[in-house]
Amino acid sequence: MREIYNFSAGPSMLPKDVMKIAKNEFLNWKNSGVSVLEISHRSTIFMKMTEIIEKNIRKLLSISNDYKILFLHGGARGQFSAIPMNLLKNFYEETDYINTGYWSSHAAYEARKYSKTNIIDVIRMKNKKKCVLDMSDWMISDRSKYIHYCPNETIEGISIYEEPKFYGRTIVGDFSSTILSRRIKINNYSIIYASSQKNIGPSGITILIIKKELLCKSNKHTPSILDYSINYKNKSMFNTPSTFSWYMSGLVFDWIIKNGGIKQMEKNNFIKSKLLYNVIDNSNLYINNIHTNNRSNTNITFLLTQKSLNKKFLEESKKNGLLYLKGHSIYGGMRASIYNAMPIDGVKKLAKFMIKFEKRFS
Ligand SMILES: *Cc1c(COP(=O)(O)O)cnc(C)c1O
Repeated sequence: MREIYNFSAGPSMLPKDVMKIAKNEFLNWKNSGVSVLEISHRSTIFMKMTEIIEKNIRKLLSISNDYKILFLHGGARGQFSAIPMNLLKNFYEETDYINTGYWSSHAAYEARKYSKTNIIDVIRMKNKKKCVLDMSDWMISDRSKYIHYCPNETIEGISIYEEPKFYGRTIVGDFSSTILSRRIKINNYSIIYASSQKNIGPSGITILIIKKELLCKSNKHTPSILDYSINYKNKSMFNTPSTFSWYMSGLVFDWIIKNGGIKQMEKNNFIKSKLLYNVIDNSNLYINNIHTNNRSNTNITFLLTQKSLNKKFLEESKKNGLLYLKGHSIYGGMRASIYNAMPIDGVKKLAKFMIKFEKRFS
């Protein structure tokens, strides 16, 4: 079969090796005689699996015991609501939401229902490219209960690589499309959350890494299903979790460990994104509007200067086994999502295709 490369933004491609393991043990999981899809989340083998998964995440991200890890429902959008509901006591408290694009502004939209939300725009233009203000220039309020930001805007392909250093403040990060793609210092954050379908596994589970002392703070009006302390007390099994997604994510963590850990993922992602940005920067057909300091290593966006070629580009790339390159409708153009599972060879193939396409059609 011809090699197919899937550049979907999410749900996105999974490592082939992971899919093979899942396939092989689909009908008979760990000699239980049944599928992982068919057993209780409270069964000994499933509970054992969740313990190993937690250990592996701690190992991969060097997470200390000062943090707890929750596995939740509702995706990142669920957390857009859960965060203010858990961290605030009343509607009059202030929160700071750093605005860098689509996802961070949607997080702020939810927070406005529960707090006095300061929306802080940090996107500037430098040499006609979008860039993000340095954190030291963010106009955060002294009164805000927490500061929320999104280190990788998946739709526009804007990344913040700077680590937050706001001494004594509560920092919340939406890491949905960048978790496990590069090294981060967990201790710089109070809450990190990510839905699973970008760089973790299939959709269905949301990982929340939270400083222990924040667990006891929940507001009594918070619905139990969103309440962090209730979920923690119930080992993330207050209601029935998305067992298959949890299991698949565990296989992905094993795969990352086997393939050199996050350090190696970071290296690969740097190589992959550089390949594509090089093609874009040396071309008259492709442009990327993001300043080099803030270009994403996981979501590479580009517009075609000849808009009439968009359709052709998608048709031809598909014929070449390069799938789902169409950009998000609000941004237009193209987007290549190259999370950990995307092999370097897939990106090389796309880079070659882009060069050839430009020569042939523009
Ligand atoms: C995909 C994405 C979301 C939305 O995730 P859901 O699981 O669909 O709620 C939120 N934030 C970021 C940064 C994303 O990439």
